[in-house]
Amino acid sequence: EQDVNEYRKSLAIRVSGFVVPKPLKTFDDCGFSTQIMSAIRKQGYEKPTSIQCQALPVVLSGRDIIGIAKTGSGKTAAFVLPMIVHIMDQPELQKEEGPIGVICAPTRELAHQIFLEAKKFAKSYGIRVSAVYGGMSKLEQIKELKAGCEIVVATPGRLIDMLKLKAFTMTRATYLVLDEADRMFDLGFEPQIRSIVGQIRPDRQTSLFSATMPRKVEKLAREILTDPIRVTVGEVG
Ligand code: ADP
Ligand code: MG
Repeated sequence: EQDVNEYRKSLAIRVSGFVVPKPLKTFDDCGFSTQIMSAIRKQGYEKPTSIQCQALPVVLSGRDIIGIAKTGSGKTAAFVLPMIVHIMDQPELQKEEGPIGVICAPTRELAHQIFLEAKKFAKSYGIRVSAVYGGMSKLEQIKELKAGCEIVVATPGRLIDMLKLKAFTMTRATYLVLDEADRMFDLGFEPQIRSIVGQIRPDRQTSLFSATMPRKVEKLAREILTDPIRVTVGEVG
């Protein structure tokens, strides 16, 4: 336990919550499949970043997380890699329709970056990733969603549009990610986020990542996360 605390300190990690898993030291500690490991190597990721060291074991254990770390710290892989594992764990993947993983990000650019990262890891499994944000015509987007996917990466406004147009349902969704939650609030997406959350089964797994933690975001996190573990890296939050 003393060693674990020292190790966290060396990574500038602070944690709180009930029964926090140990931080890992290498990607090998994650128990990832050979496919995921080779995709990680292909990305040139040699070792996990600080947030990944602590967030990966938390999310892989099925727990909700509040992850606070500055931009550029590698938060995307901390939720995308467990999402691939979560999807591959589903017993009858082909039986139902609609995404299993739903990722919300504040802007088209950020959503697109996540989309690209998710595709790199999803590809070798045949997991389909759909991007739902402005820039593509709504008709095209509806067509793509109706064809089916396991992961949706979306901006909140466009996601609501697609749900209203019945392009897809979230009845199969069991893992929700709110990325850059502080910026989504700054951009006025709180009502859309609440609406999206309300349409996903309450026994889902939820990850909330943010660079800062204003009181409004804290309040939302308390309402929509179940027994979360909070992981803070460095002098943020
Ligand atoms: P954040 O979401 O925290 O701003 P990103 O997930 O966008 O950060 O990652 C920032 C950059 O770091 C990206 O270019 C990403 O490919 C890279 N990266 C992520 N994890 C690792 C790692 N373990 N080793 C090296 N580079 C990484
Ligand atoms: Mg990010």
